[in-house]
Amino acid sequence: MANWLKRGTEASVKADADKKVREIVESTLADIEQRGDAAVRDLSIKFDNWDREDYQLSQAEIQACMDTLSAQDIKDIEFAQAQVKNFAQIQRDSMKDVEVETLPGVVLGHKNIPLNSAGCYVPGGKYPLLASAHMSVITAKVAGVPRVVTCAPPFNGKPAPAIVAAQHMAGADAIYALGGIQAVGAMALGTESIDPVDILVGPGNAFVAEAKRQLYGRVGIDLFAGPTETLVIADESVDAELCATDILGQVEHGPDSPGILLTNSEKLARETMAEIERLLEILPTADHARRAWMEFGEVIAADSYEEMVEIADDIASEHVQVMTKDPDYFLNNMTNYGALFLGPRTNVAYGDKAIGTNHTLPTKKAARYTGGLWVGKFIKTCTYQKVNTDEASALVGEYCSRLCGLEGFAGHGEQANIRVRRYGHREVPY
Ligand code: NAD
Repeated sequence: MANWLKRGTEASVKADADKKVREIVESTLADIEQRGDAAVRDLSIKFDNWDREDYQLSQAEIQACMDTLSAQDIKDIEFAQAQVKNFAQIQRDSMKDVEVETLPGVVLGHKNIPLNSAGCYVPGGKYPLLASAHMSVITAKVAGVPRVVTCAPPFNGKPAPAIVAAQHMAGADAIYALGGIQAVGAMALGTESIDPVDILVGPGNAFVAEAKRQLYGRVGIDLFAGPTETLVIADESVDAELCATDILGQVEHGPDSPGILLTNSEKLARETMAEIERLLEILPTADHARRAWMEFGEVIAADSYEEMVEIADDIASEHVQVMTKDPDYFLNNMTNYGALFLGPRTNVAYGDKAIGTNHTLPTKKAARYTGGLWVGKFIKTCTYQKVNTDEASALVGEYCSRLCGLEGFAGHGEQANIRVRRYGHREVPY
């Protein structure tokens, strides 16, 4: 039986916070829908203290941002973007169109059709998260989306140069200096100055994630990608320093980011808790990390690998770092996770920033029903059919006619009957 050595303290407070966020998002989106650009501007002033006539960045402004970066910064961004692009292209190439004869004369197929437009949100409230620009803009472009627009909030009172550079280098068609609900609301609903998009993608804080959720239906969304979560699964093949570093490396995202250690070693569990306390004294971002660890951090000691898989699948964490003697056991047996990081040589930061897999991943148990962002999220798989012979039309028509009768659909039935008569030269035998 698993033993919780540490539980978060804030689970019930969280439900209230979620309700408040839902209400703020609802009224803010209604305002954007009613008043368009005027509302976006008021909201940008209210939430970000950020006022402009036109929130789209000019070429000169984009170039000025590029110019503030060093040659090494540019090379580093190019490296990360090349990895993301390469893996996205391999995934795109794996998505084949299908056309097959399923019965003599019956041809069924599907085509993979890129969406016409995408709105990519790049978060930047607490940190200028330029990596999100690679993850969404490049992936959309590799998928074949012709119009890709992107928003990021101002950082320290102006557009973050590194984000703007990454958005530009990723191939965005338009860059807006807008954050939060007003950004995703404007891209989804459209305003006088921003044409609406077909899908909203990208991670964000609780407001951004909830706004995307409420906008779903009006537009597509990639997934529910809210505040970061991490689960470290470890045994005594690794030490407490590595486990503590990997938990704190993710809970620094913000005070609402859960970090969990799941282990079959109570000794490692206790040592990791002590190590986290030690590292919190020296981590420059300890403000966010300490609150997140106190309020949402958990340490679970389980008895066996089987129990660890069961608990991990129930948690369905966004990131799962596996540092055990046989990490592939978890690859082969786990079913609910946003992304797996297998073995101590890799870690979530590699995935977040540089290695090439997408970092926009499901949170709040959404990993039960979806993986992360990838080219497939920008592509519609649409079916078609052809019937090439009279015999095939009459054969399917007879089955179809009787099945329509079972449902009481006379009009549907007649669509079939007319073909049985015309191409089969007979009445449907009931
Ligand atoms: P953000 O860009 O998501 O949000 C900042 C915006 O939130 C601001 O521009 C402001 O307009 C709005 N806002 C702030 N307080 C508000 C309030 N009280 N009411 C209405 N709007 C408000 O940046 P962030 O806050 O730094 O959050 C980034 C988030 O993205 C983090 O939680 C991080 O964990 C998460 N993230 C998730 C993934 C994933 O794939 N799930 C990946 C990377 C980052």
